[in-house]
Amino acid sequence: MAAVAEAYGTPCYVYSRAIIESNYRTYSAAFGHRRHRICYAVKANGNLALLDVLARLGCAFDIVSVGELERVRAAAGNVRTVTFAGVGKTRVELEQALAAEIFCFNVESIEELELLGEAATALGVDAPIALRVNPDVDANTHPYIATGLYENKFGIPIGDAMDIYRRAVALSGLRVAGVACHIGSQLTSIEPIVDAAERVMRLVDALNREDIVIDHIDIGGGLGIAYGDAAPPAIDVYIKAICRIIDPQYEIVVEPGRSVVGEAGALLMRVQYLKKTPLKTFAICDAAMTDLIRPALYQAYHDILPVTAGGEEQRVDVVGPVCETGDFLGRGRDLAVASGDLLAIMDCGAYGFVMASNYNARPRPPEVLVDGRDIHLIRERETLAQLYAGEYRLVSE
Ligand SMILES: *Cc1c(COP(=O)(O)O)cnc(C)c1O
Repeated sequence: MAAVAEAYGTPCYVYSRAIIESNYRTYSAAFGHRRHRICYAVKANGNLALLDVLARLGCAFDIVSVGELERVRAAAGNVRTVTFAGVGKTRVELEQALAAEIFCFNVESIEELELLGEAATALGVDAPIALRVNPDVDANTHPYIATGLYENKFGIPIGDAMDIYRRAVALSGLRVAGVACHIGSQLTSIEPIVDAAERVMRLVDALNREDIVIDHIDIGGGLGIAYGDAAPPAIDVYIKAICRIIDPQYEIVVEPGRSVVGEAGALLMRVQYLKKTPLKTFAICDAAMTDLIRPALYQAYHDILPVTAGGEEQRVDVVGPVCETGDFLGRGRDLAVASGDLLAIMDCGAYGFVMASNYNARPRPPEVLVDGRDIHLIRERETLAQLYAGEYRLVSE
């Protein structure tokens, strides 16, 4: 980490190839002989190098926009393995994904289904579809990342799914291929996933009774990781539980994001100032909510570890320089810390860089991938000139 800081400065995202590969292999091995497809959720971290690493292992991809489709194309070449989720796919996005001949559209509303059928018919093709059903189960996660309750905007209420499948069969331009669901993210217990899978299986049985035949069941992503003292189930325990519920004749699709890359990344930063006030001591760092928004957005906890320990141990709030009281990275931490020290925020590989912003005119940090003894720069630090490239002053006499 010290060598990375020396070479590329701080703040900087650092990823481990070995951890990403090991997580992918754990997923793959847990399926044993079951027919399966692992579609890494690109939105967790879409850096081309990470997609490349995963594609080389045979990984497929789950996308939520055409921007992500283009990332997969640029990194992996093959886009035919892609599943496409999202409640607001535009006609242009649907057309581009049809042209790319993706594996499956996970459709989230009747209007989307009709638009997709229309677009496909116009292009003279059949769109492979799964309805993304909302099974109405409580995932017991932060409300901002729960997606499987009827109060959420995601999916088609499972009670309506039968009717809409009949509709899909009747419409032109569609080919019913599967059923999909995804109930939320950072799930730390297996029960809601098992519950959702069982409800999906009951729907599949009902479809079979009407001779609506599907080939795959997509159970989504969402497995949590161990931030702080969270204790999510292990990958193989989770996959084996799903395999027990889904009938072996179906291909099982999973869409993990966080559980593949989350633990593989850290945000490296330097303490700029130690500031003692009557109530608290602040370790003001050169990373901020603009680089990692999870603490501010989800009250997320990330371990913060010293890379080079300087001062005496004290209780500090670890904050950034941004002009927002919500700009904190960790509060009430006992750290041996002095100004100039390097710190690492752990478990930042997922929903870290991808959610970075330029607020306060801060360039986004670089990303590096550590591969054994090699350190690869996989994204350059943004420059100040890039911050306003594409903006125009008013031209006047
Ligand atoms: C976000 C998302 C995922 C990945 O979720 P993780 O919690 O990162 O595993 C998978 N599928 C869909 C549809 C998603 O929106």
